[in-house]
Amino acid sequence: MKKEIEIVAYRCKKCGKIHYPFHDRCLACKSREFEKIKPEGMAKLLTYTRIYNLPWGFDQRYLTIGVVEFENGVRAMGQIHVDESAHLETGMVMKPEWGPVRKQYGEAVYGLVLKPAG
Ligand SMILES: [Zn+2]
Repeated sequence: MKKEIEIVAYRCKKCGKIHYPFHDRCLACKSREFEKIKPEGMAKLLTYTRIYNLPWGFDQRYLTIGVVEFENGVRAMGQIHVDESAHLETGMVMKPEWGPVRKQYGEAVYGLVLKPAG
């Protein structure tokens, strides 16, 4: 079964700016009223980086981390699951999933997983 993406972002009721993670006050207009929204649609890659020398708890050799923007404006960070040789570039469309990103005490920890949509 496909898991729902467990990300909740906060849209300012006054000016519409989207915050994720939560901020006490809107960064744009200082309002304190937000509505909760979920990321929707595909995710556009804004930036990415590959990390070697991973801390304990990761069993892979490296991680590719990306920041994406969903179609409704929510931005989030996730793990990009691709081969080392795969070509990545900013602006490309990624398919978001909620999947295992690492292991903690032998149990899978879930997070945002991104795969090239093409
Ligand atoms: Zn605002």
